[in-house]
Amino acid sequence: MKFFYDFHLHSCLSPCGDDDMTPYNLVNMAKLLGYDIIALTDHNSCRNAASAVRAGEQAGLVVIPGMELCTQEEAHVVCLFPDIPAAEAFEDFVRSRSMEIPNRPEIFGRQLVMDEQDHILDEEKRLLIHATQVGVDHVLYEARRFGGTAFPAHVDKPAYSVISVLGAIPPEAGFHTAEISFTGSPEALLQTNPELSGMLLLRNSDAHYLEHMRDPGPTLELPEASAQAVIRFLDEQNL
Ligand SMILES: [Zn+2]
Ligand SMILES: [Zn+2]
Repeated sequence: MKFFYDFHLHSCLSPCGDDDMTPYNLVNMAKLLGYDIIALTDHNSCRNAASAVRAGEQAGLVVIPGMELCTQEEAHVVCLFPDIPAAEAFEDFVRSRSMEIPNRPEIFGRQLVMDEQDHILDEEKRLLIHATQVGVDHVLYEARRFGGTAFPAHVDKPAYSVISVLGAIPPEAGFHTAEISFTGSPEALLQTNPELSGMLLLRNSDAHYLEHMRDPGPTLELPEASAQAVIRFLDEQNL
């Protein structure tokens, strides 16, 4: 079956994510727009993922717990996990590989942890947009250790992408899936970066505001709508 997907969305936990981008709101907006499967991928944290998964269960939408990891090279890589325990274990791992720099909400924005009914549970004190000590070459390996998978984010963007910081997708990283923005041209990208040929190119919104969530575009052919099916499919691309 074909499923509409968006595997790159930020909630109010991301400092740059709008406070209205609560787990409840973003899940129900995705449902309204007609998506079948989404992933919540806040910067360097999965702390809102459990609420989003529960909001998804209530709304009838599959939500994959995930994270947009900032590597030590300052490249963004989207990581997806099969369930909440795996995402929380990965969160602990990333914390152990991150510097504890306090957030300054007046500069970077608030980092709200919320439940699935729009109640604020906590405010994350550690700034979530810093580079971690996980290298590009190790992200996929680490995500797989927790049952997940990973792909480089917005590779056509001029900042914070694996290509913008390294010039190319290093073969040692093992990626065979990559994300291109909705406005990006795969043809132009393939000309400058032929290492992308043969890779599965996903198009995700990377929305930080409800109004930047968009109508569904491409679909994925999967046996069922589940986090496990998505990870298995993307990981097969990564073999
Ligand atoms: Zn990013
Ligand atoms: Zn993002």
